[in-house]
Amino acid sequence: MSQIDPSPLKVFLNELHSQYKSVREGAVAKYIPELAKANPDLFSICIVTVDGQVWKVGDWEQLFTIQSISKVFAYGLALEDHGLDYVLTRVGVEPTGDAFNAIILDEQSKRPYNPMVNAGAIATTSLIKGSGPTERLNRMLDMFQRYIGRDVFVDISVFTSERSTGHRNRAMAHLMLNFGMIDRNIEEALDLYFQQCAVMVNCQDLAVMAATLGNRGINPITKERAVDKRYIKDILSVMYTCGMYNFAGEWAYKIGIPVKSGICGGIIAVVPNKMGIGVFSPLLDVRGNSVRGVKVCEELSQRLGLHLFDC
Ligand code: GLU
Repeated sequence: MSQIDPSPLKVFLNELHSQYKSVREGAVAKYIPELAKANPDLFSICIVTVDGQVWKVGDWEQLFTIQSISKVFAYGLALEDHGLDYVLTRVGVEPTGDAFNAIILDEQSKRPYNPMVNAGAIATTSLIKGSGPTERLNRMLDMFQRYIGRDVFVDISVFTSERSTGHRNRAMAHLMLNFGMIDRNIEEALDLYFQQCAVMVNCQDLAVMAATLGNRGINPITKERAVDKRYIKDILSVMYTCGMYNFAGEWAYKIGIPVKSGICGGIIAVVPNKMGIGVFSPLLDVRGNSVRGVKVCEELSQRLGLHLFDC
């Protein structure tokens, strides 16, 4: 018989995993044809503390494409490339209360609303510096590698699947070009955006990335700096207000920590100076958030007292 793990957190994660494994609500994302093939049974939870301890349960090694969670990290890179003042002139920080792919732009300030919805994310990605598409992609991949601590790659079939069917994102890019909100070659910007969404990660990677943000930009496992410390508060602020699509307000109220979800079924949540949380389960609710992921984070927040204003 295997020894009983004495860690109460490990026991708690195991309990959460078996409690929510049976939840069958929701559906896998279908609008990118390749994603419709996701296995709805997959489920994993991982916590990484800022001093590098790792707890994980379930299918934590399973690779999947990062999708919208990439928006957080691309925003950090754009901030490093141009500084906050300039980036704010190109992409706002106002929650929309609308779906991630809503075709709405702030025509008054001539900006997409925020970097966590598709329009804002495409505009953010168009800011990434580089002498050409290859250098820009390599800079993006290097950035992910610093957060994750290993080599990363793009899933070509998901990338091409989204590239050939992403008409809505293409329409948004054209609209932004029309309004002068984006000025580079939009096909190139879209390609880089689709590529960043198709970067392969596992649940442990998500938790390490979240813990890196929680650790002021230093990967707690490799000790490498992934992003300039001065932008952490800007990144965490938009995650807090805009990270859960049109569930962002309710999340901030109930769960109370910076977060980002993606239609892959992944969620990252950051407890500043304490830990990063990663959850993966591809069954999504109507807003595009992982059903089990939201439930797990809600329980973690309540049981561990993680809400930022819980004092
Ligand atoms: N690549 C997806 C898109 O742009 C990401 C959506 C998401 O994860 O919210 O539609």
